[in-house]
Amino acid sequence: MSLADKDRIFTNVYGFQDWGLKAAQARGDWDDTKKLMEVGQDAIIDEIKASGLRGRGGAGFPTGMKWSFMPKESKDGRPSFLVINADESEPGSCKDREIIRHDPHKLVEGALIAGFAMRARAAYIYIRGEYIREAETLFAAVEQAYDAGLLGKNAAGSGYDFDVYVHRGAGAYICGEETAMIESLEGKKGQPRLKPPFPAGAGLYGCPTTVNNVESIAVVPTILRRGAAWFSSFGRENNKGTKLFQISGHVNKPCVVEEAMSITFEELIEKHCGGIRGGWDNLLAVIPGGSSVPLVPGEQIRNAFMDFDGLKELGSGLGTAGVIVMDKSTDVVRAISRLSYFYKHESCGQCTPCREGTGWMWRVMKRLETGDAEIEEIDMLQQVTKQVEGHTICALGDAAAWPIQGLIRHFRPEIERRINERAGAMQEAAE
Ligand code: NAD
Ligand code: SF4
Repeated sequence: MSLADKDRIFTNVYGFQDWGLKAAQARGDWDDTKKLMEVGQDAIIDEIKASGLRGRGGAGFPTGMKWSFMPKESKDGRPSFLVINADESEPGSCKDREIIRHDPHKLVEGALIAGFAMRARAAYIYIRGEYIREAETLFAAVEQAYDAGLLGKNAAGSGYDFDVYVHRGAGAYICGEETAMIESLEGKKGQPRLKPPFPAGAGLYGCPTTVNNVESIAVVPTILRRGAAWFSSFGRENNKGTKLFQISGHVNKPCVVEEAMSITFEELIEKHCGGIRGGWDNLLAVIPGGSSVPLVPGEQIRNAFMDFDGLKELGSGLGTAGVIVMDKSTDVVRAISRLSYFYKHESCGQCTPCREGTGWMWRVMKRLETGDAEIEEIDMLQQVTKQVEGHTICALGDAAAWPIQGLIRHFRPEIERRINERAGAMQEAAE
């Protein structure tokens, strides 16, 4: 099932209208926010749980459940905080950018309601350093909300005091990892912490904290206005709601579009992207969830459900729904080798399997690209990815290992062909 226009949450995602407060209010944002809050904190959390919303930053953890981990009473007078992750840096992902550019008031209103629901004193929105214009828009939207009495003391007339701070990152991918983000907000080097404790136990300044993605927070006001039953009417069981898909690469019309969860890949591409460049027979592979998930061969993904479970069944994942499409003109070994370089470059260096492993994997991938390797090295590379996966402090180690595992699983003959060709050419030259 695909989404009708009337069911879109992000009605200004293409920026056809003004992003400012007045225009946002005309689109329904900040409409009697006080009334949404009057039902009380627990009722809001229950409604978000009932909606089936799962975290939109990539991991898909149930949002309402995450909020329920926050304490109901302050211990030792310690405040609670909401941190909003706008450090969108995953290659292939660009949806939070569009929300902030064109619909920032959905995020700011969502911050107030979500913050209130988990009894937070303030929200910190951590925005990627490279998002310069977007940060300007966000600062301005927050200022507009303060000027209109929607934030600060007695926010939106609710009787609740709530502040929103925008904090700019400085260009490190790892600061998108929630505990590295907290470290960075505290003014330290952005390096992930061991979990547990999870942020709800000990987060920003040691206080209870929830970290949520921009999209997860921006959909909250609409879910409350239209009801959990409306949101959960889209998508399959355990995969509910609407979702911003970001389709890049070899389609005729790359775009960011809101769709129902569980739409099939074929319908998504035909309806919004004008099809695959050169037709479906020309499709080689797809990375369906941002660069941290394994690729899927074209013939396997065509009828797949674009949701958490559908892509897991294919050995991949929905991740951020940053869909990277590769046609048969793509040098797929080189594409994955380039991603390996990215993870090597962005490793914070804190744990050995990631610090050493990402560099090692990249160097082997570079040689596989040209065929300058031994056939046995393919298995050795596979084993090294298994040594990195699950043996690091944060998910960057897994993210570096999985794309390589996907390549070996699905394109081993292509890797072997290069090695054999190169060996043949070397032998010819020697004779
Ligand atoms: P995770 O599964 O460790 O955690 C997801 C969330 O659930 C976190 O907030 C965590 O605190 C919470 N959580 C998990 N288990 C919990 C428990 N037992 N108790 C309390 N809270 C718990 O994943 P992660 O490391 O936060 O995120 C990894 C994902 O991020 C990847 O799948 C990738 O797709 C995505 N990612 C996105 C971007 C981007 O630009 N949006 C960049 C890099 C990675
Ligand atoms: Fe740093 Fe990599 Fe370890 Fe994450 S896995 S903490 S990025 S070294």
